[in-house]
Amino acid sequence: MDAYTARRTDTGGRTLKNKEERWITRRERIAALIKDRPMRASEISRLLEMPVNEVLEDLRHISRSRKYGKLLVSPARCRKCGYVFKAEIKIPKKCPRCKSTWIEEPMFMLQ
Ligand SMILES: [Zn+2]
Repeated sequence: MDAYTARRTDTGGRTLKNKEERWITRRERIAALIKDRPMRASEISRLLEMPVNEVLEDLRHISRSRKYGKLLVSPARCRKCGYVFKAEIKIPKKCPRCKSTWIEEPMFMLQ
């Protein structure tokens, strides 16, 4: 990853804009992406070209660290029966109520 990748993936234009910011960390990139803008882990994974499990791991770290602000989690939801999951930093595979795997992923945003 280099500064150009970072610049390309940051559509908000808030950070990652010059040479001095070249060595920004992966977690800082994620934090910049979801600042005031809810996103799915799979979207972050695609934008930053990293595995979704690593995105979730970084999100957990971000939620425990004070320096990024408050991480808000909008819970996953079953698209078949409407069951709402607990607001957690993970992607459920299956609905416990109707067993459907058609799951709307949770969204993450920093405030
Ligand atoms: Zn369901």
